[in-house]
Amino acid sequence: MEKSQNWNDWRWQLRNRIRTPEGIKSYFKNLTEDELKGLETTVREFPIATTPYYLSLADREDPNCPIRKQIVPTYSEINPNKQVYCDPNALNEEEEIAHLTHRYPDRALITFTTMCPVYCRHCMRKRKVGKPERVISEEEFKPIYDYIKKNSQIREVLISGGDPLVLSNEKLFHYVEKLKSIDHIEVVRIGTRTPVILPQRFYDEDLLKFLEKYSPIWIVTHFNHPKEITKEVETAIRNIRKTGNPVLNQTVLLKGINDNPTILEELFRKLLKIGVKPYYLFHCDPIYGVVHFRTSIEEGLKIYARLRGRLSGLAQPIYALDLPEGKGKVPLCPQYLLKKVGNRYYFRNYLGEVIVYEL
Ligand code: SF4
Repeated sequence: MEKSQNWNDWRWQLRNRIRTPEGIKSYFKNLTEDELKGLETTVREFPIATTPYYLSLADREDPNCPIRKQIVPTYSEINPNKQVYCDPNALNEEEEIAHLTHRYPDRALITFTTMCPVYCRHCMRKRKVGKPERVISEEEFKPIYDYIKKNSQIREVLISGGDPLVLSNEKLFHYVEKLKSIDHIEVVRIGTRTPVILPQRFYDEDLLKFLEKYSPIWIVTHFNHPKEITKEVETAIRNIRKTGNPVLNQTVLLKGINDNPTILEELFRKLLKIGVKPYYLFHCDPIYGVVHFRTSIEEGLKIYARLRGRLSGLAQPIYALDLPEGKGKVPLCPQYLLKKVGNRYYFRNYLGEVIVYEL
């Protein structure tokens, strides 16, 4: 991919997203049968898009490239032999007020837009994103703001999407400023994949000044593979950190992309090195369109146990899954306590040795 002189301009990256099967076909060689059929059929159900930047990270020749797998649609996404028609969290997302989900007493989730710079093939919200692309209006924001202001038990607001950082600075600043002005809102979190797929968003001086002024705003991003950590990303993360805002990462465990302890170890080490705390490793939910990316929980636990022996606590995310119907997240943890006999506890350590701990 040729780097134009506007490469570092996030608006140029957004305007020049590749959004058609022809655009994808002209970049990649050796498209597999699954990819070719996906470009004919799947795209009617689940949209495609990528920034030129993120596309440039993908290997043109290798169908197993982890970036390519996150960009190029496949027939597997809609193949009835591979998918199940379910979305365990869909029911829970029924909203009384449009674009607002109030599931836990102290937290509320707002979706500012359905648009994302890249439509990730593994997206858990793919039944919603990009269909069609839109940003909420001032009229739609007002009842959200009124509801949060009225409900003083809400202490934390998560702004998600789509990707809220596709909003113009003007709109984004206005909505975040309003939320920050509510007395009982203690924490504002922005869930965004832009540090990964559009790092140029954080070259924008006005955005950086805004983040500094309203710090702390917790930036929660979503890196899945060490190949995603580039010079551009390092610059973006450095810029965010200079504004005094913390950056956390959520990874999804994805078959064929990162279901390997060596890859995850490299990812978490690289994240820590650039100043991003690995926060969650999510087990992939059984959602229509992403089932082919799932590993079993047993495989996930095996990978996680390997990581625990190799990484410091700081680099360890919590491995967790989302229970259906909004029943909460549960951490998944290998069994370390084997048994208790009298006052003796038998633990298995990361080397597989059984160690006795006596009270
Ligand atoms: S950026 Fe996030 S919300 Fe958007 S498609 Fe990717 S995973 Fe889904």
